[in-house]
Amino acid sequence: MAAKYANYTLEWVGTIPGKRESRRFVGDVVLREQDVVECREWHDAVAFGGWNLDDHAPLGFFDDKVPPSIHNQIPGLYNVPLRCLYSKTVPNLFFAGRNISATHVALTSTRVMLTCAQLGEAAGAAAAFCVQKGVSPREAASPESVGEIQERLLRDDHHIVGRASRDPADLARGPGVKATASSSLARVALEQPDGAVALDKDRLVLFAVERGELDRVEVLLSAGEPTKLGWQLHRNDGRGLYIPHQTVAEGTVDVPAGGTQWVSIPVRAKIGQPGWHMLELKANAALRWHTQSGRQVGVKSFLGVGTYKHERGSNLHTRFAKLNGLNHCVRLPDDAALYGPANAVNGHARPFQRPNLWISAPAKPGQDEWLELDFGRETEIREVACLFDSDLDRHLTSMWHTMPYRIEPDLVKDYDVQLRVGGSWRTVKEVRGNRLRRNVTVFDQRYRADALRLAVKATHGNPRAQVYEVRAYA
Ligand SMILES: Cc1cc2nc3c(=O)[nH]c(=O)nc-3n(C[C@H](O)[C@H](O)[C@H](O)COP(=O)(O)OP(=O)(O)OC[C@H]3O[C@@H](n4cnc5c(N)ncnc54)[C@H](O)[C@@H]3O)c2cc1C
Repeated sequence: MAAKYANYTLEWVGTIPGKRESRRFVGDVVLREQDVVECREWHDAVAFGGWNLDDHAPLGFFDDKVPPSIHNQIPGLYNVPLRCLYSKTVPNLFFAGRNISATHVALTSTRVMLTCAQLGEAAGAAAAFCVQKGVSPREAASPESVGEIQERLLRDDHHIVGRASRDPADLARGPGVKATASSSLARVALEQPDGAVALDKDRLVLFAVERGELDRVEVLLSAGEPTKLGWQLHRNDGRGLYIPHQTVAEGTVDVPAGGTQWVSIPVRAKIGQPGWHMLELKANAALRWHTQSGRQVGVKSFLGVGTYKHERGSNLHTRFAKLNGLNHCVRLPDDAALYGPANAVNGHARPFQRPNLWISAPAKPGQDEWLELDFGRETEIREVACLFDSDLDRHLTSMWHTMPYRIEPDLVKDYDVQLRVGGSWRTVKEVRGNRLRRNVTVFDQRYRADALRLAVKATHGNPRAQVYEVRAYA
């Protein structure tokens, strides 16, 4: 026994042996490694996965011929089609979880618990659809039918990568609906440094661009001596991935010697495809990039680590690794639409190509920050559903006591739902002490109203109101 284990005690042993891979069923589609790695598009996408290809030795502990596990990274989230969740031969058999129709290698990613849970949700919704419509699973997966299942899933805050909701019953997405807000965040700036890192490796900051051009981005640097800094602006490949795909502008900029100084990177790029872009600063021994701890929605910092290939795994998709809780200080130009109120009704309830949420200005004491939907006509309303920001980016471990707080500070805590009835605003629901991302209010009567307002009174700590989605139903 290795010396380092000499003082260890045995605390816990599983009483039931768990088998990592057991029987799988064959569906109309067998999900393959290529489908996962290429983040393939499917008309019948109903669930998503994101774990890497984590292949263990087939003989377990007793396999001394191959490494115990091989972790090959995937470039980003991928979808699983409904056709992997029902039997090719048995007409009324759905499956979900570890037994889905997937190859051994694809299963090394799909088998993780949260993906299994997504698959279960999707299989359940599809089975309900089959019963209601009297159709087979195969018919349910057809292009004509599967959209209804996808809409049902999205309404319940299930996620399908890149699939925006187009629910015809949702009044918030109706033609002529106008979204306005008390205020919106127009510009992201990380300008309160509490540290600095050497630019001894390439470093990168990711952000979304909504406008047709990007003039300049400012970065906060210190230079030990005058130097020329190389930079590149990249964009992703349109599938919502968070990795550079194509360089759209590049150059160098002179940085004079001196401590903490904002350096303007003259990007001057036409933005052909709005969405995630990445500014890369090339390694430079003379420079340090100032950093700010914590997190800022819509901006992520990365460190160049080179592509990684090894007998125990590889990452061939990007040279960069995400930094958690550390941001390179950057000032982005004004981009009013990026966090505007239209995000709450654009059909995307999670980040995809852009943050997709409304963010208000910091609320003043005693003042509501509100989001308003004007339907342009009087309509019947019985249900309002909101999705607040519960910080889906934070890495959560299963050990609750290690969390810095008990409730996500970004979550909306207190809010009112107001309806404009006969020209005057009426509060129809007051919610206090909310702790959930998804809030659904079903009124005990149907109101006739021509506008809806969500008035945010308090969050669990964030001074800004942050809302991913508002839906309304008759
Ligand atoms: C050792 C090990 C470590 C793992 N580590 C992780 C990890 O760290 N993170 C992670 O995300 N995933 C991990 N996984 C993978 C993950 O736990 C499984 O892939 C996942 O739980 C499978 O879920 P499932 O619902 O498909 O199947 P199961 O969880 O196996 O559920 C099937 C259920 O069906 C029941 N059942 C079987 N036959 C019948 C019957 N005839 N009638 C009624 N009930 C029946 C079984 O008792 C069982 O409760 C691990 C798996 C193993 C084995």
